[in-house]
Amino acid sequence: MSTDCVFCKIIAGEIPSAKVYEDDLVYAFRDIAPQAPQHILVVPRAHVASALHVTEENSHLAAACFAAISKIAREQGLEGFRVITNCGEEGGQTVFHLHFHLLGGKRLGANLL
Ligand code: AMP
Ligand code: ZN
Repeated sequence: MSTDCVFCKIIAGEIPSAKVYEDDLVYAFRDIAPQAPQHILVVPRAHVASALHVTEENSHLAAACFAAISKIAREQGLEGFRVITNCGEEGGQTVFHLHFHLLGGKRLGANLL
């Protein structure tokens, strides 16, 4: 756990969150500032700073996030959705704990931005 990381604190239960899903490797909760009717953050329990820090040794954590995304999407009845990870300040990342935005609940346009 990284002591100054807001998502580590959420996973540890030190900061409240609206939990959607959890398993041994993954925790998922509703984004506090939703940008779609369904906006869920899917994060590995272990602290990995960003997609730039995914390695052969820890890539199973990213894979576990995608397995969770599939389960969550089915559970939430999402027929189509978008998965985004922002990486680095220039990539729009504000919380430096790897996370995947799962966005859906409405028809999304073809453009990312
Ligand atoms: P990013 O900008 O890709 O790093 O995404 C960080 C996301 O975390 C943003 O969409 C924020 O709204 C969300 N966020 C920040 N703090 C919290 C929190 N305490 N609970 C839920 N979502 C949060
Ligand atoms: Zn963290």
